Amino acid sequence: MTQPRTTQLLEGKKSAAAIRDEAAAMVQRLRAAGVVPSLALVLATADESAAWYTRAIARAGDKVGIDVRVERLADDASAATVRAALQRLSADDTVHGIILQMPLPPGVDGVELATAIAPEKDVDGANPVSLGRLTAGLPAFAPATAAAVLRILDDHGVELAGRRAVVVGRSLVVGKPAAMLLLARDATVTVCHSRTRDLKHHVKDAEILVVAAGHPGLITGSMLRRGAVVVDVGINVVDDKLVGDVDFESARRVASAITPVPGGVGPLTNALLLAHLARAAQAQADAEPGAAVPSRTRASVGSANQPLTRGAT
Ligand code: NAP
Repeated sequence: MTQPRTTQLLEGKKSAAAIRDEAAAMVQRLRAAGVVPSLALVLATADESAAWYTRAIARAGDKVGIDVRVERLADDASAATVRAALQRLSADDTVHGIILQMPLPPGVDGVELATAIAPEKDVDGANPVSLGRLTAGLPAFAPATAAAVLRILDDHGVELAGRRAVVVGRSLVVGKPAAMLLLARDATVTVCHSRTRDLKHHVKDAEILVVAAGHPGLITGSMLRRGAVVVDVGINVVDDKLVGDVDFESARRVASAITPVPGGVGPLTNALLLAHLARAAQAQADAEPGAAVPSRTRASVGSANQPLTRGAT
């Protein structure tokens, strides 16, 4: 008979609160020195989920003293209009971070447009230059969700070096950067996607499994290796309830640790975004000639993620 065992819940709320506190302390210091940390959100559609997200970020920013500005473009904004807005904000010294909110109008390519976000203001790692820099081990902001994956593993003391990590999903916002961050921490990483043959086989091999596919119930307990650590990034609405991509009930019986949905990666994502913004504002203030902003808290917010090589997650 198998021994009853406990599965660790990898919850994100406590870490999120600590990250927010660190960001708030840094923001306070910057404000005292006359710098108002400011985040610009560029919206180019009337999409309801984008509007909801914008309000959530504005509220979260407000709580830590970050000024969140919404650049509301026309619903049918052309690529040229969006690009011009991103270029203007990139050149604006009073703006320290920029997010291009998805979705964009049909036919407008977000990845191409994100190249217009100045890398030092790319707090959600949308500019492909940021992913390239992360891949090369250079300082850059990772997308907040990918950074959250690493942070939740670190905060629960999950060893990464030398372990087999499987990432399901290869999007630019989650799967690819999460894979790069895991690789930078010396995990042995496999990336799966919709064309992967025999997903089950790869998943069974995972000591650490990160799932970001957007398919509820894609991963079930029977697919897991016993004792796997499971990070479920998925957020799906099923029967008016939020669920992940992993079937939680069956997975928790096999995994040694698993994130709940909601309450796992989600809470960390926004907190890390605020931390990135505070760090961006600090770095930009430091770069000003004659800058005199004390940066005592920088290191702590900087360690919001364990340093991936030299990347600024
Ligand atoms: P996405 O851009 O749609 O990418 C999904 C990825 O999953 C793609 O790479 C896709 O493969 C892969 N995939 C789809 N079906 C698959 C299958 N049956 N087997 C294996 N791989 C499969 O989505 P995303 O933006 O990365 O988001 C993924 C999930 O995370 C969503 O549920 C989203 O809501 C959630 N999310 C959560 C947060 C948070 O803060 N917690 C933030 C962002 C996203 P192909 O590349 O071959 O199409």
